[in-house]
Order: sequence, then C-alpha cells, then structure tokens
Amino acid sequence: MQWPISSVPHWHFGWLVKYKQLAATSAGRNIKMDITVYQQRRQTVLNKIGEDGIAIIFAAPEQRRSNDTEYPFRQDSYFHYLTGFPEPGAALILNGREHTSTLLCRNKDPEHEIWNGFRYGYTAAREQFAFDSADDINQWPVLLKQALAGHRRLFALWGLYPENDPKLIELWYEVARIANYRSANGSTIAPDSLVNLASILDPMRLIKDKHEQSIMRIAAEISAQAHIRAMQTTRAGQYEYQVEAEILHEFMQRGARYPSYNSIVAGGKNACCLHYVSNNCQLQQNDLLMIDAGAEYQMYAGDISRTFPVSGRFSSAQKDIYDIVLAVNQASITSTVKQANWQNISATAISMLTQGLIDLGILHGSLEQNIETQTYRRFYMHGLGHWLGLDVHDVGGRFDSNEQPILLQAGMVTTIEPGLYISAADDIPQAFHNIGIRIEDNVLITETGNEVLTASVPKTTAEIETLMQY
Ligand code: MG
Ligand code: MG
Repeated sequence: MQWPISSVPHWHFGWLVKYKQLAATSAGRNIKMDITVYQQRRQTVLNKIGEDGIAIIFAAPEQRRSNDTEYPFRQDSYFHYLTGFPEPGAALILNGREHTSTLLCRNKDPEHEIWNGFRYGYTAAREQFAFDSADDINQWPVLLKQALAGHRRLFALWGLYPENDPKLIELWYEVARIANYRSANGSTIAPDSLVNLASILDPMRLIKDKHEQSIMRIAAEISAQAHIRAMQTTRAGQYEYQVEAEILHEFMQRGARYPSYNSIVAGGKNACCLHYVSNNCQLQQNDLLMIDAGAEYQMYAGDISRTFPVSGRFSSAQKDIYDIVLAVNQASITSTVKQANWQNISATAISMLTQGLIDLGILHGSLEQNIETQTYRRFYMHGLGHWLGLDVHDVGGRFDSNEQPILLQAGMVTTIEPGLYISAADDIPQAFHNIGIRIEDNVLITETGNEVLTASVPKTTAEIETLMQY
C-alpha cells in the first residue's frame, strides 16, 4: 500500500530508509565469513589455558524429530564461537603445549552427500577454516588420549553434552593411570584437574567484539521489521499462528532462516502465561496482543517484545498499564550504561512498576511495604533482562566469582524487558483483567552510553496506533 507522503509521520521515513537499506544488504545473503575472527579467539583461549592445558569442544549433535527425520541442525554456540564450522559430527582440540588447534570432522562421502548434502571433509575444512590440522571425527578419543599426556589440566564444557563426559573421564583415567605408573621415572605428566572451559569462554562471549556487534545489529533490525509487519497486518478474527506466520515470513525474506527461539504470539489472557507458545487462539477485537519474537541471524539472536491492541486502539485501562511498563522500559534503557550496576537498575524497575500498580488501585498500601513483601511478584514475576548473543539467554552471569555484581561494560548486550501481567481475579478492577504487557528491547552498551539495536519498532501508544492505521 502506498502512503500519502503528506500524512506519513516523520519517524516513518527513518524506517523506510532503513528498511530499503536492509533489503538491499541482508535479504538472502550471508555476511562473508571472516575466518581470522575465529582464529584469534582460538589464540586467546590457547593463551588462557596455558602450556599445561588442553581443551576439547564438541559440535552440537543432531536431534531426531520422528522416525528418520531430524530437527533443523543448529551448531553449538561455543563451538561456533571458536570455529565458524557449520557441521555436526565435529570437535575441536586446543593443545596448549603445542599451541595448536585441531578440527575433527566427518570426511567427504559422495554417496552420503547425495542424500544429505555437502560436507567439507577434513582437508578442505583445515584449509578454509584455518586450523593447524584436521582429522576424522571418529579418531577423537585416540587423538585426545595421545595429546592428554603432558598436560596438567583438561578443559571441557562438562555437562553440556553429558553423553561425551564418561568417555572423557575414561580417557583421562587411562592416561592418569599410565602416567602415575611411569611417573616413578619422571617421564610422563597427566592432567590432575578437570576444568570447566566455560570459565574462560563465558567472559569472552559476554563482551561482543565488532564482528559480533555488526551481526547483532542486523539480527535486531530484522526482528524489528517483523514486529512492524505484525502490527500492520494483525486483524481481529485471525489466529495467533497466522500472525506468527507474518513474523516468520519477514525473518526469512530478510535472510534470517530461523527464529532465535519459539515465537510467543499471545492474545488477551494468553499473554499472562510468560512462555506461551501454543499460538492457536483466535484474536478478539478488544484484546491486546503480546508478541515476543526474534530472528536468529548468522547464529546471533534478536529478542523483541511488543504489545499492541488487536483493534488498533488501546482502551483507557490498557493504556494505563502500558504506560507504566513503557516508562520502566525507557528509564531502564537510559540507566543501562558503562559502569552501571544492573541490580540497581532492576530494583528501580521494581519500584516504578509497584508504584504504578498502587496508583491504579491494583496494589494497596505504601511502596516500601509492597516491595518488602514482594506483592508485585503477582504481576511482575521475571527479571528485567538477560544477556543476548549467540544464545537468546546468553552466557556470562550477572555476578563474578566473588558474588559481586558485574558492572556493565562496553560491548555487553542485554535485553530490557519489563512487564505486567494481570489475570482476572475478584480483587482486581474488571477493566484490568487479562492484560499482559511486555516491552522488550536489545541494548548494546557503548563507551559513551548505549545503542538500542531494536529502536525501529514503535513503542509509544501513539506511535503504535498511528502505524496500525496504515
Ligand atoms: Mg523475548
Ligand atoms: Mg528476552
């Protein structure tokens, strides 16, 4: 539909320009892989595990869906972070003493490739992904066992794929036994500690480098455009999954093959279920629709929530609740800057939400009393946000090993997602029944402030109502 230029609000032009740029730059194409990024990360890990450390990281396994069909394969986030290698049936060994990285993968198999697609094979994989060496994945126990001797620490992502852990322990035990025997002659050293590699990788992944930031901008923008499409196309009488189809359509048209998690498309009271993914109810004219959906682009997640009226017009009660959540979203984003303490931002959010509920007569008594007794938890039962990156709930934690809050640093990306969820109940005024609202943005902390990666999606009630007229 063509918009009469004179009636298009000025903020539409920004979207249109971005929209066209994005269509030209992202749809159907991949960012050219910069292998040096992965090489440098491996070097960093090799330096951190030191000469007496050896590490093994496994690719994700394939997952059976039914009989002989499988779920779409998604590479393990840690493995991808260090290799960029896209296949299952692979592992990476980082040898600290030799300072080398070895890829183990499936070899070429013309017959298998006719049925199931291309494989690099270990010769091409070593060259194209710049490993020091590559070998057959079936050799990993042999090669790891050979390499274990001479290292004091074995790093792995223990528990991530539990099926691998017993084999690793067995290999370690075999080498340790021989080493103990030979150590009488002082000839062999075996690992005497098993270390979680996440203690090295999680702090690295917490700070997004320029390469990651550029991908996350696109993941966020594609996600944003999908939410705009949903606002523009939603009509009463549709089923929630039909709105989900519009979102997935936009993701794929813009080059994001998959969502980064199961999309939540929740009309009316369904929004009060935090992880509602059934998406099979019919939208009612007077309900709100809460959508929590994000695109995965080049393995990185977008994660946006918006809430809008099915009819295109907020009721007065819906607007009252919405504006409380919006104010918290905006205030929290303003506070999300370098050196800020996330715990303080979260506490302020709780205080603002609670005061808003008191002002509307949904909670009673003083602010202090309600916070003390956590009455707000009936209406706001989740945290203010989470790290975002390769995983939608990304690694890193909010506290360091001394249980001190990790202050925000440039390069971190967090979601900001306050919400209020008011189920029907006798002690709540009826106008507020079944209102569930979440407003979620993705925020990159910078040296000078922050960058809201998801700023393209409207979020004031006026902006949303205007967009929904077209
Ligand atoms: Mg979300
Ligand atoms: Mg989220």
